[in-house]
Amino acid sequence: MSYPLSTSPLWSSHEAAAATGGKLVGEADWQVRGISFDTRTLKPGDLFVALEGARDGHDFLGVAAEKGAGAALVSKVPGDAPAGLPLLQVADTLDGLGALGAAARDRHFGKLVAVTGSVGKTTTKEMLRAALSPFGQVHAAEKSFNNHLGLPASLASMPSDSDFGVFEIGMNHSGEITPLVGLVRPHAAIITAIAPAHLAHFASVDEIAAAKAEILSGLRPGGTAILPSDSHYAGFLTEEARSHGVRHIIPFGETGAAEAGVMLTEYQGYAGGSTVIFQLDGETHDLMLSSPGKHLAMNALAVIAAGHAIGLPIKQVIQGLEKFRAGEGRGAQHKIEVEGGTLTILDEAYNANPASMAAALSVLAGMQPGPGGRRIAVLGEMKELGESAAALHAELAVPIAQARVDQVWLAGKDMTSLKDGLATNMLAGWSEDAAGLEDEIAKDLRAGDIVLFKGSNASGIGAVLASFLAKH
Ligand code: ATP
Ligand code: MG
Repeated sequence: MSYPLSTSPLWSSHEAAAATGGKLVGEADWQVRGISFDTRTLKPGDLFVALEGARDGHDFLGVAAEKGAGAALVSKVPGDAPAGLPLLQVADTLDGLGALGAAARDRHFGKLVAVTGSVGKTTTKEMLRAALSPFGQVHAAEKSFNNHLGLPASLASMPSDSDFGVFEIGMNHSGEITPLVGLVRPHAAIITAIAPAHLAHFASVDEIAAAKAEILSGLRPGGTAILPSDSHYAGFLTEEARSHGVRHIIPFGETGAAEAGVMLTEYQGYAGGSTVIFQLDGETHDLMLSSPGKHLAMNALAVIAAGHAIGLPIKQVIQGLEKFRAGEGRGAQHKIEVEGGTLTILDEAYNANPASMAAALSVLAGMQPGPGGRRIAVLGEMKELGESAAALHAELAVPIAQARVDQVWLAGKDMTSLKDGLATNMLAGWSEDAAGLEDEIAKDLRAGDIVLFKGSNASGIGAVLASFLAKH
């Protein structure tokens, strides 16, 4: 996994063998500095975990050795295993990775925070990294390592002397979060929001709420649940927390968070950031975020609640949060020199579902184009919405109208329902395949424009943006 190369060892062979109940094969005294289950990103000194997925990781032991793996976690010893690579053999490597994760948790004396939700997990994780950093060393994965592989790998990679561990927990199906949060056993668990995402695997948003609520089952005794108070599901989530014996609940939001919560009292967004005023324990605080978007302000309130839950002084949590910068694909802005001036790109190309589309369009609404410029939305499909896909795409017409968008470019078959419902003077172009729009969009853009790029990972919008940025 992509952590800075650590100088101190993460696991010794004997600790790893004790944690997993595995057998050391070959050289028995070694140390590793990181964990990797993919030789493409393996760093020298990592423990390579040979997982048996679509491809058998055991076939990559030679590559792992060449790239400098310190040892490998295996379930079998292939005849062609490289002689110089020490092995730790277990019955099942994924279980072995989980056991290492549990051992990393048990030897850690810092505080652990877990984040789930339909949108904003990675953003909130990055905000936690910024907010907690003034207080000590924060361990958090660089990417969205949030599933049955990424989460245990991130946990097993946590240095024993770190002060905080922050974990993103995702899911595509119900029942997936329970074992993952059971591994982390966080001191605080955040649910960012409940919204239609991955609907293809769920009969309703109610079921999504129930699946997200699984995170409440894994809080350690005395732990705190941090819940979105404006959500339609606020009452349900609170009940779920209580049913799991959770006694500390901090709601965050604009409504329903007045008591014992983090309550937003004022939000002011502008092109380069926002001012967020909130109340906590009867005191008013203000926070200046470096990226606009009320959705980011909401994530920030959840982070404030987490800081409060683990006993940190809010003033410094705020100072840390103010250093947060929106990431590539998640609200980062680029200024591009074009003939006659600059245009602004709002990069939201990492992913999309109805909630994050609405959030991104409202950021666009709050930004003022330069002289002669326009608000432009380049939108790709929202994937994994199952049977509701056509209706949910068509409904984007509402936030588009609210955002006072001048021009819309649409890509992908699922956008047909939206295309048919948009005013014709608003639709600048449509293509089934995002790449087909690239040249036309580039020709049309001009100084003063603000251009939002947004779509699901698989929509191709990210590639259109990357190619545009590469040419400018
Ligand atoms: P994934 O499930 O793909 O890992 P995620 O939950 O980690 O997604 P992010 O990557 O943080 O979510 O953000 C995805 C998109 O949602 C980004 O475009 C981001 O700007 C937007 N977003 C972030 N937080 C919120 C929020 N609270 N409400 C709505 N949209 C949000
Ligand atoms: Mg993520």
